[in-house]
Amino acid sequence: MILVVEDEPAVRDMIGMTLEQAGYQWVAAGDVGEARARLAEGRPDLVLLDWMLPGTQSGLDLARQLRREELTRDLPVILLTARDAEDDKIRGLDVGADDYITKPFSPRELVARIKAILRRAGQDEEEAVVTVGGLTLDSASHRVMAGENKVSLGPTEFKLLSFFIRHPDRVYSRDQLLDRVWGSNVYIDDRTVDVHVRRLRKALSPFGCDRLIQTVRGVGYRFSEQE
Ligand code: CA
Repeated sequence: MILVVEDEPAVRDMIGMTLEQAGYQWVAAGDVGEARARLAEGRPDLVLLDWMLPGTQSGLDLARQLRREELTRDLPVILLTARDAEDDKIRGLDVGADDYITKPFSPRELVARIKAILRRAGQDEEEAVVTVGGLTLDSASHRVMAGENKVSLGPTEFKLLSFFIRHPDRVYSRDQLLDRVWGSNVYIDDRTVDVHVRRLRKALSPFGCDRLIQTVRGVGYRFSEQE
Protein backbone atom coordinates (compact mmCIF):
# COMPACT_ATOMS: atom_id res chain seq x y z
CA MET A 1 0.00 0.00 0.00
CA ILE A 2 1.35 3.39 -1.01
CA LEU A 3 0.11 6.60 0.56
CA VAL A 4 0.01 9.45 -1.95
CA VAL A 5 -0.10 12.90 -0.35
CA GLU A 6 -0.77 15.35 -3.15
CA ASP A 7 -3.27 18.21 -3.40
CA GLU A 8 -3.43 18.63 -7.18
CA PRO A 9 -6.09 16.27 -8.55
CA ALA A 10 -4.46 15.97 -11.99
CA VAL A 11 -1.09 14.97 -10.54
CA ARG A 12 -2.75 12.64 -8.03
CA ASP A 13 -4.71 10.89 -10.78
CA MET A 14 -1.60 10.48 -12.89
CA ILE A 15 0.29 8.98 -9.95
CA GLY A 16 -2.64 6.74 -9.04
CA MET A 17 -2.94 5.41 -12.57
CA THR A 18 0.79 4.79 -12.75
CA LEU A 19 0.77 2.92 -9.45
CA GLU A 20 -2.19 0.78 -10.46
CA GLN A 21 -0.56 -0.16 -13.74
CA ALA A 22 2.57 -1.14 -11.84
CA GLY A 23 0.47 -3.33 -9.56
CA TYR A 24 0.55 -1.19 -6.42
CA GLN A 25 -2.42 -0.40 -4.23
CA TRP A 26 -2.66 3.17 -3.05
CA VAL A 27 -4.63 5.60 -0.92
CA ALA A 28 -4.73 9.35 -1.31
CA ALA A 29 -4.58 12.35 0.99
CA GLY A 30 -4.78 16.01 0.01
CA ASP A 31 -3.04 17.57 2.98
CA VAL A 32 -1.12 16.72 6.14
CA GLY A 33 -4.29 16.29 8.20
CA GLU A 34 -5.69 13.75 5.77
CA ALA A 35 -2.34 12.01 5.56
CA ARG A 36 -2.35 11.67 9.35
CA ALA A 37 -5.82 10.13 9.22
CA ARG A 38 -4.72 7.59 6.59
CA LEU A 39 -1.60 6.74 8.61
CA ALA A 40 -3.74 6.13 11.66
CA GLU A 41 -5.76 3.58 9.69
CA GLY A 42 -2.71 1.50 8.85
CA ARG A 43 0.91 1.64 7.98
CA PRO A 44 1.67 2.02 4.25
CA ASP A 45 4.79 0.50 2.66
CA LEU A 46 5.86 3.89 1.35
CA VAL A 47 4.74 7.53 1.31
CA LEU A 48 4.84 9.68 -1.81
CA LEU A 49 4.77 13.13 -0.32
CA ASP A 50 4.26 16.41 -2.14
CA TRP A 51 6.32 19.24 -0.68
CA MET A 52 3.83 22.07 -1.22
CA LEU A 53 0.49 21.28 0.40
CA PRO A 54 -2.44 23.52 1.37
CA GLY A 55 -2.88 24.35 5.05
CA THR A 56 -0.43 25.25 7.73
CA GLN A 57 1.84 22.24 7.32
CA SER A 58 3.96 21.33 4.31
CA GLY A 59 5.09 17.94 3.10
CA LEU A 60 8.46 18.75 4.58
CA ASP A 61 6.87 19.23 8.01
CA LEU A 62 5.18 15.85 7.74
CA ALA A 63 8.41 14.15 6.62
CA ARG A 64 10.16 15.59 9.66
CA GLN A 65 7.39 14.40 12.00
CA LEU A 66 7.43 10.90 10.52
CA ARG A 67 11.15 10.61 11.21
CA ARG A 68 10.74 11.76 14.81
CA GLU A 69 7.96 9.37 15.66
CA GLU A 70 8.72 5.88 16.86
CA LEU A 71 6.26 4.04 14.66
CA THR A 72 7.12 5.78 11.39
CA ARG A 73 10.84 6.31 11.83
CA ASP A 74 11.73 3.69 9.22
CA LEU A 75 8.80 4.34 6.87
CA PRO A 76 10.16 5.04 3.35
CA VAL A 77 9.34 8.56 2.13
CA ILE A 78 9.79 9.97 -1.38
CA LEU A 79 9.33 13.74 -1.62
CA LEU A 80 7.69 15.17 -4.73
CA THR A 81 8.31 18.74 -5.61
CA ALA A 82 8.30 21.37 -8.31
CA ARG A 83 11.37 22.93 -6.79
CA ASP A 84 14.67 21.75 -8.09
CA ALA A 85 17.20 24.03 -6.45
CA GLU A 86 20.12 22.10 -5.02
CA ASP A 87 19.70 23.41 -1.46
CA ASP A 88 16.05 22.36 -1.46
CA LYS A 89 17.14 18.90 -2.43
CA ILE A 90 19.55 18.82 0.47
CA ARG A 91 16.90 20.15 2.84
CA GLY A 92 14.51 17.45 1.72
CA LEU A 93 17.01 14.69 2.36
CA ASP A 94 18.00 16.36 5.62
CA VAL A 95 14.56 15.82 7.11
CA GLY A 96 14.95 12.14 6.37
CA ALA A 97 13.26 11.60 3.00
CA ASP A 98 14.68 8.52 1.29
CA ASP A 99 14.49 10.02 -2.16
CA TYR A 100 13.41 13.08 -4.01
CA ILE A 101 11.59 13.43 -7.35
CA THR A 102 11.28 16.72 -9.17
CA LYS A 103 8.10 17.52 -11.09
CA PRO A 104 7.42 16.95 -13.87
CA PHE A 105 8.43 13.31 -13.78
CA SER A 106 7.58 10.39 -16.04
CA PRO A 107 5.53 7.41 -14.83
CA ARG A 108 8.50 5.23 -15.60
CA GLU A 109 10.84 7.28 -13.42
CA LEU A 110 8.32 7.24 -10.57
CA VAL A 111 7.96 3.45 -10.64
CA ALA A 112 11.72 2.93 -10.89
CA ARG A 113 12.32 5.08 -7.79
CA ILE A 114 9.57 3.36 -5.82
CA LYS A 115 10.95 -0.07 -6.69
CA ALA A 116 14.46 0.94 -5.70
CA ILE A 117 13.33 2.30 -2.33
CA LEU A 118 11.12 -0.68 -1.53
CA ARG A 119 13.90 -3.07 -2.48
CA ARG A 120 16.31 -1.26 -0.21
CA ALA A 121 13.78 -1.22 2.65
CA GLY A 122 13.05 -4.92 2.16
CA GLN A 123 16.71 -5.89 2.10
CA ASP A 124 17.43 -4.05 5.30
CA GLU A 125 14.77 -6.14 6.95
CA GLU A 126 15.58 -9.48 5.41
CA GLU A 127 19.33 -9.63 5.37
CA ALA A 128 19.80 -8.55 8.93
CA VAL A 129 20.99 -11.03 11.48
CA VAL A 130 20.18 -9.63 14.89
CA THR A 131 21.42 -10.87 18.25
CA VAL A 132 19.90 -9.64 21.50
CA GLY A 133 19.98 -11.25 24.92
CA GLY A 134 21.38 -14.58 23.69
CA LEU A 135 18.82 -14.83 20.89
CA THR A 136 19.92 -14.68 17.27
CA LEU A 137 17.37 -14.11 14.55
CA ASP A 138 18.26 -14.58 10.90
CA SER A 139 15.53 -13.38 8.56
CA ALA A 140 17.15 -14.77 5.41
CA SER A 141 17.18 -18.37 6.66
CA HIS A 142 14.12 -17.82 8.87
CA ARG A 143 16.00 -19.24 11.82
CA VAL A 144 16.12 -18.38 15.49
CA MET A 145 18.89 -19.64 17.75
CA ALA A 146 19.15 -19.44 21.52
CA GLY A 147 22.87 -19.88 21.94
CA GLU A 148 23.56 -23.19 20.17
CA ASN A 149 19.95 -24.33 20.25
CA LYS A 150 17.45 -23.96 17.48
CA VAL A 151 14.17 -22.38 18.58
CA SER A 152 11.19 -23.52 16.58
CA LEU A 153 8.50 -20.90 16.06
CA GLY A 154 5.28 -20.60 14.11
CA PRO A 155 5.20 -17.98 11.32
CA THR A 156 3.37 -15.37 13.39
CA GLU A 157 5.63 -15.89 16.40
CA PHE A 158 8.61 -15.50 14.09
CA LYS A 159 7.25 -12.20 12.74
CA LEU A 160 6.47 -11.02 16.23
CA LEU A 161 9.95 -11.84 17.53
CA SER A 162 11.46 -10.34 14.40
CA PHE A 163 9.69 -7.06 15.16
CA PHE A 164 10.50 -7.12 18.90
CA ILE A 165 14.18 -7.90 18.44
CA ARG A 166 14.62 -4.98 16.05
CA HIS A 167 12.74 -2.56 18.29
CA PRO A 168 14.03 -3.30 21.77
CA ASP A 169 13.40 -1.30 24.95
CA ARG A 170 10.23 0.32 23.71
CA VAL A 171 6.70 -0.38 24.80
CA TYR A 172 4.15 -1.21 22.11
CA SER A 173 0.42 -1.35 22.64
CA ARG A 174 -1.55 -4.27 21.24
CA ASP A 175 -2.93 -2.02 18.51
CA GLN A 176 0.54 -0.90 17.53
CA LEU A 177 1.75 -4.49 17.38
CA LEU A 178 -1.24 -5.50 15.26
CA ASP A 179 -0.42 -2.71 12.86
CA ARG A 180 3.30 -3.38 12.66
CA VAL A 181 3.38 -7.17 12.78
CA TRP A 182 0.07 -8.24 11.26
CA GLY A 183 -0.05 -5.31 8.85
CA SER A 184 -2.65 -2.80 7.88
CA ASN A 185 -6.19 -3.72 6.91
CA VAL A 186 -6.41 -6.69 9.21
CA TYR A 187 -9.46 -6.85 11.37
CA ILE A 188 -8.56 -9.06 14.26
CA ASP A 189 -9.13 -8.81 17.94
CA ASP A 190 -6.24 -7.33 19.87
CA ARG A 191 -6.39 -10.32 22.23
CA THR A 192 -4.84 -12.22 19.30
CA VAL A 193 -1.64 -10.41 20.23
CA ASP A 194 -1.78 -11.90 23.74
CA VAL A 195 -2.24 -15.39 22.31
CA HIS A 196 0.84 -15.12 20.10
CA VAL A 197 2.92 -13.46 22.80
CA ARG A 198 2.05 -16.39 25.07
CA ARG A 199 3.12 -18.89 22.40
CA LEU A 200 6.31 -17.01 21.75
CA ARG A 201 7.17 -16.99 25.45
CA LYS A 202 6.45 -20.70 25.69
CA ALA A 203 8.81 -21.42 22.79
CA LEU A 204 11.52 -19.28 24.37
CA SER A 205 11.14 -20.47 27.95
CA PRO A 206 13.27 -23.67 27.69
CA PHE A 207 16.20 -21.37 26.96
CA GLY A 208 15.34 -18.84 29.65
CA CYS A 209 14.65 -16.21 27.01
CA ASP A 210 10.95 -15.71 27.74
CA ARG A 211 11.95 -13.01 30.24
CA LEU A 212 12.90 -10.83 27.24
CA ILE A 213 9.22 -10.37 26.37
CA GLN A 214 7.87 -8.22 29.13
CA THR A 215 4.33 -7.23 29.94
CA VAL A 216 3.88 -3.56 30.73
CA ARG A 217 0.65 -3.42 32.67
CA GLY A 218 -2.07 -1.32 31.11
CA VAL A 219 0.09 -0.48 28.11
CA GLY A 220 1.34 -3.48 26.17
CA TYR A 221 4.59 -5.33 25.63
CA ARG A 222 8.28 -4.58 25.58
CA PHE A 223 11.29 -6.55 24.42
CA SER A 224 14.21 -5.85 26.70
CA GLU A 225 17.29 -7.42 28.24
CA GLN A 226 16.80 -5.35 31.34
CA GLU A 227 14.50 -6.58 34.06
CA1 CA B 1 1.15 20.67 -4.23
